[in-house]
This record gives sequence, structure tokens and C-alpha cells, in this order.
Amino acid sequence: MSAPLYLDYAATTPADPRVVEQMMRHLTLDGVYANPASRSHMPGWLAEQAVEQARRQVADLIGADPREIVWTSGATEADNLALTGLMRANRARGRHLVTSIIEHKAVIDTAKALEAEGFEVTWLTPTREGLITPQALREAMRDDTVLVSLMAVNNELGSVNDIAALAEVAHAHGAFFHTDAAQAAGRLALDVTAMGIDLMSLSAHKAYGPKGIGALYVRRDPALRVEALIHGGGHERGMRSGTLPTHQIVGMGAAFALALDEREQDDAHLRELRERFLDGLAPCSGIHNHSPAAHSVPNIVNLAFDDVDGESLLMALRGLAVSTGSACNSASVDPSYVLKGIGVPHAQALASIRFSFGRFTRADDIDSAVAEIRHALDGLRRPASAAMHQR
Ligand SMILES: *Cc1c(COP(=O)(O)O)cnc(C)c1O
Repeated sequence: MSAPLYLDYAATTPADPRVVEQMMRHLTLDGVYANPASRSHMPGWLAEQAVEQARRQVADLIGADPREIVWTSGATEADNLALTGLMRANRARGRHLVTSIIEHKAVIDTAKALEAEGFEVTWLTPTREGLITPQALREAMRDDTVLVSLMAVNNELGSVNDIAALAEVAHAHGAFFHTDAAQAAGRLALDVTAMGIDLMSLSAHKAYGPKGIGALYVRRDPALRVEALIHGGGHERGMRSGTLPTHQIVGMGAAFALALDEREQDDAHLRELRERFLDGLAPCSGIHNHSPAAHSVPNIVNLAFDDVDGESLLMALRGLAVSTGSACNSASVDPSYVLKGIGVPHAQALASIRFSFGRFTRADDIDSAVAEIRHALDGLRRPASAAMHQR
């Protein structure tokens, strides 16, 4: 059996070979392998230099100062550090946090853990398009609201929040603003200053870098207080201890530098693919697009299919590596909480599939996917209607 066609870029991207080449130079004896915290010898300084160059590359993609970047193991850890670290460090300001019911589990579960710790959380409901409106946020703000955490791009729908407008509401009420931008980096133009962002979570492996590395942007002016979750040698200005994984960090830096250089090219490519995909499926009846056309990234298309059973559809599409709901929940049979959160009916949510494309997806991949979907729908729908006619 040949490998399925990979259309699950929103779950993770393959690393760009140009990224891997850089990483390989930071592992072995003939490369830069020393501990970047070793201050007493040249190999250590070289590793530190590599880490600092990557820090600048990551900062450059989001318009930050390199000193505002804290390395983490991924966006999950960055979300944990942002919410827990900020809320705990700012107890004197208040105990209220505002977020939404369609955030990534890294935010949702962290907010729930904070509730158990005595903090109070307001859970916003998005619009049918998967967006949080500034008005909804305004109504949730309180005098003791310390932090608002709302994602830039939803990982299941591809919906894009108006982060600048939401941050403005948070600030108008004296709160800090965090955004999980794991799906936004490399897709959208990001500028933490222009957008008024105080904390931003980033991940390398959603943007052609390696898994296991990410970063939290922490604003320096005005300086934010964030309590560490991982204690140790005081690395990363005391916010996150642990020996820095030079090769991973160099990989993230290289991936983000490519994202900065090639974002427009990638975007044009992805728009072409999306148009081709939707055009190819246009003749089929009973398909609903959950991804809001005017407010979504071009690489995620979440479709619902009428008159088919979700499980049978996924079986029929086994030549495609796609996702129902988010990958993190694929072990459970519950419909996606995100689709449920935007008000998709239960049965329709179960017959919904997220298709996501990327830098290495080709036009003929899209054509094969379209052919496979059309074939699957024909096969699954015909017996049902034939059976109905027999009755
Ligand atoms: C993938 C993802 C995460 C988790 O990132 P990791 O680096 O895998 O921990 C968090 N938030 C969103 C929106 C994501 O898409």
C-alpha cells in the first residue's frame, strides 16, 4: 500500500530540508554541540551565538526584540507559562481570566487548572464563523480581569480573530493580552507592537521546523511579571530553566527565517490550492464549509458532508491523511469540541473533516484528493438512496 497523501499540515508540517541541514550542524563533534550556557570556552560561545541568532530570527518574524523571546518545548508549554505564570505572578491585581471555548486544549486545560487553583475564568462563545467579537470580549471584562487569552488562528477551522481589536479591548480594561499564534506564524503578517500583544505562544513544527521546540514572547516594555513553572539553572531570564537544545532552537530559527522570506510566496501557493480544492468539489451537493471564507487562513478547509456517516467517510478516504476534529482528540469518538462550540449539530460535526495543505502540497495532489472525495461520496451515498427507493 502506498503512503496516504498527507493533507494534515495543521497537525504538523514536515520539516523543510533547509531547516534540517542547519540542525545537523549543531549536534555532532564536527559541529556546534557544546552547551550554550558554557561561558568558559569557545565551543560554548559558538553554541550561544547560534542560539542568539535563532532568537533574533524568531523575534524578526513577529516584530519583537530578541530579549523578549523565551524558549520552551512548544506552544503547549508556552501557553501553560503564559496563563499560569502571569496569573500567579499578578495575584495582587486580580484573579479573573477571559478565554474562549474553542481555544487549543493547551489553553483550555491550563485555564481549568487555574480555576481549580482559585482563579475565575469567563469562557467566551464564538460566532458561527469561529470568531470572538470585540463586543463579546468587552461584555466579559471586569475590574479584576488580569489576562485575556484568545488564539490568532483556530487550528480546526482556520478562522482568524481580529487580534489587534481584541487586544485593544483588553488594554482598555487594564488587562494583559495573550494570543496562541501556533497556527498564525508563517501564515499571517504578525507584529506584536502594532497588534498590542503582551504574550504570544509559538511553535516550530507548525511552520516547517522540528517538533519539541517553541517560544513564548514576553513583552519587556512595560515589563510583564511571569512566574516560572520549571525551576533550575535560571536560564531564559529565570522564566524557563533547562539546557537549551541548540539544534532544535537553530531549527526553529531557520524555519521562521524562511517563513519571513517566503510567506507571500507560500500564501499565494496555498490560496491557489484552496481554490482548486473547492472548485473541484463545487459540483458535489451537500458539502458545507465551516472555514469562514473571508476570515480564514488559506491552508485549512473544514468541510461537513451531508448524507454520509462520518466513520464510513473516513474509512473511504483512507488514501488521505486528514483529520476529524483535532489530532489531540482523535482517540475519542466525541465530535470536535470546536465544531460543537460554533454550533454545528452533532451529526454534522461527526461527518466533518479538516483538510490542511502546505508548502509541499502540489496541484496534482489536490486533484487526487478531489477525485478520491468525489468517489467516496458517490459510493457512500448511492447505496443509501438505492436502499431508500427499495422501501
Ligand atoms: C499545535 C498547536 C499547539 C501545540 O503546540 P506544540 O508545539 O505541539 O505544543 C497549541 N496551539 C495551537 C493553536 C496549535 O495549533
